[in-house]
This record gives sequence, C-alpha cells and structure tokens, in this order.
Amino acid sequence: MTPLEPFETWTREARRQAQWRRLAGRLPALQLNNAFYRRKLDVAGIADTRDLSVMEDGLHLLPFTTKTELSDDAAAHPPFGTNLTYPIEKYVRLHQTSGTTGRPLRILDDAESWEWWRECWQPIYRAAGVSAADRIFFAFSFGPFVGFWSAFAGAERLGAMCLTGGAMTTTERVAAIVATEATVLMCTPTYALRLAEAAREEGIDLARSALRVSIHAGEPGASIPATRDRIEKELGVVTFDHTGATEVGAYGFSCSARDGVHINESEFIAEILDTATGEARDEGEGELVLTNLGRWGMPVIRYRTGDRVNAVRGACSCGRTLVKLAGGIAGRVDDMVTVRGVNVFPSAIEAIVRRFDHVGEYRVALARVREMDELRCTIEAPADVAERVAGAIHSELGIRCAVEAVAPGTLPRFEMKAKRFSKTNV
Ligand SMILES: [Zn+2]
Repeated sequence: MTPLEPFETWTREARRQAQWRRLAGRLPALQLNNAFYRRKLDVAGIADTRDLSVMEDGLHLLPFTTKTELSDDAAAHPPFGTNLTYPIEKYVRLHQTSGTTGRPLRILDDAESWEWWRECWQPIYRAAGVSAADRIFFAFSFGPFVGFWSAFAGAERLGAMCLTGGAMTTTERVAAIVATEATVLMCTPTYALRLAEAAREEGIDLARSALRVSIHAGEPGASIPATRDRIEKELGVVTFDHTGATEVGAYGFSCSARDGVHINESEFIAEILDTATGEARDEGEGELVLTNLGRWGMPVIRYRTGDRVNAVRGACSCGRTLVKLAGGIAGRVDDMVTVRGVNVFPSAIEAIVRRFDHVGEYRVALARVREMDELRCTIEAPADVAERVAGAIHSELGIRCAVEAVAPGTLPRFEMKAKRFSKTNV
C-alpha cells in the first residue's frame, strides 16, 4: 500500500490550524485585488481582513458564496465577472460548468491555479492505486466542461500514459481501450456501463481487457454499491468514486474502504450547512460548503455547492483522518422529492434499480397527478422484473412507484452527466 501523506492523517487541530493559516494569509491580497470578494467582505462588515488573520480561526465570520451570486456577477460584468484576482492577461484556461442548474458559468484559471488542479489529482490517483506505470483512457469529449481535463493534466503530472478518447464513437472507444491495453478508465459511471454494452454488441468482453481500475465522476454511481458492483463485474475493474466541481476544484476521492468520498482537506475546507438553522459544522448532514485553498486567480470562499451530504469524521480503515462523505453525494439539495411525506433522492432509486441484473437504462419521473405526487419509473427489462423492482422500492423506501418495462435500447444513452430524473405536472 502507498504510504499516506502527512495531511491525510492530520489531527482535527492540525487541520484547522493549517487550513486557516493558508486562507488567512491570502485574504488581504484578495480584499485588495479581487473586486467580487472586496464587495462581499464590505457587505459583511469586514473592513480589513488583517484583523481576521490574527485570530485563531475566523472562517465562520466570512460570508457564504452562492452560485447565483457568481452567475449574477458574470451577467452584470460579462464575459467573466469580477471574481478575478489578477489582470486578465494572467489567465491561461477557460472552462465552464456543465449546466446542471442554470446557465453555464465561465471559470478562468491562471497558470498557478491550473498547476494546483494537477496537484489535487495526485491523492485521487494514489488512493486508487494508479501509478506512472498505468495507461489511462479518458472516455470524455474534451469540450468546454472542465470534467476530465484536469484529470488528464494530473495524470500527465503523475507520469502515466494519457490516452484521449475525445471525438470518438463508443465503439471506437472500446476498440481503442483494447488496442492500447489501457489499464485505467475515466468516465461517468453511466458511460462505463454503456461501454460494456457496446463492447458486448461487438462480441468483445471488456472484463478480459487490460483494464484494472476505473475512476468515475459526474454522478454518484461509483458510491452506489449496486452500480459499482455492476461496473466492476462488466469491466473487470476495481471502481473508485471522485467528486469535483468546476467552480471549486477536484476535491474528493474514494479509498480502499469505498464506502464514501474523502475530502482533500489539505486543499479544501469542508463545512456542512444545516439549511434550516443556517449553522455550519464540520460534520453531519446538510449542504456541502467548500473553500478552495490554492486557486487564487478565481477562488471560492465558503461556496454552497448545493450537494446534500452526510459528512463523518473518525478513523477510516484506510488510515486517513480526512472527513468522509458517507455514501458519496446523496444528490442535489433541490433534487430531493417528497412522495406522500417520504423524502427520496434519485440516487436511492438507482441503488435499487441497479441491483437487478436484467435492467439496462432506466428513467425516473415525479409526476403531479390531481395534486398528489407520484413516482414513475421506466426500465429496460423483461416485464416480470418491473414488478420485482416496484416491490423492492416499496419495501425499502416505503413509497409506491409505478414501474414500466420497455425493450432494451429504447431509452437514450448518455456520455456526460446522465439526466434520468424529471418532474412533470400531469
Ligand atoms: Zn478511507
């Protein structure tokens, strides 16, 4: 097993001190040069951040940042907004958010920030046992969405062989994985299953290829046991989860315990916001709030990610003391639906549906029928499986869900973040 870095076994006190020193050291320059944060600090009544620097920990005094604020700022000051610490000439890369919610945000990185992204990928690869000897295949389109761009740069830094799967059909990607003897696959969990399906149609068994590890992002699938088991079986790999956000950075990774996602607390401060009380803690259930500590060209401080998590602290079997998001990201805070008084995240449905061997793609819709919310699920499977899936959803989640079976290949496939969940009025 690879030895852990000192930050991976920090005590609570060592972590807090290191994080605050790093943030506090940069705040004065930010207040001076970054118009967006200067305004926010003014509004929060913090006239001089040097007053905070002398405190033991002044994080809780800083204001939260929301996506709406960044988005409104960009709209008022096009094209990049005012969250810029340096003159515009200093920036070298432009990426944009995937547009899960609202219009895409343009995010800039200067050379130092991009180097930081590359460094952030090292603990992720290390935890998955990926090394310079590996050949990493990126089944990703390499468009403006940051996605696996930073993973590609990080893999180069690691010294691994980086294989791009951009501008290829799924069949071409399967052929490239086999021909190059790739050992590591990077893609969304949905797309891993799509690759296995396409391979089967070509008479290729990817479980017999050189692939040995897969790392997934974009959806929670790799932390959902049933989805992970299926990817591992169909591709012959050990599967790891990774979490990141365009505005924040590549912050999370699953370890050998694979029961959640650790946060790299050397480069990110994680807080859990109780949205009901407005109180932020360093563990528990709530909305994940992140501060990045090395992306000073366009930083985010106490950024409300909109992701609902359950953060636990304590020793992990992997030896790390880093906070862990148990079970990965449960879902977007606004994705939670309430069916007859029961709160459900779409990921809970996935955890059940994926356990059934004969299910291909699936869809979930929340429909409002005569003022009552009803959950409907469409699955690619034989008719008898639909009944069993409905039974499992009822017994495990306590809600009734109408499950309809359709023929294999009927539902659309996804390369990027899958959109399987919808809300409609009937
Ligand atoms: Zn661990």
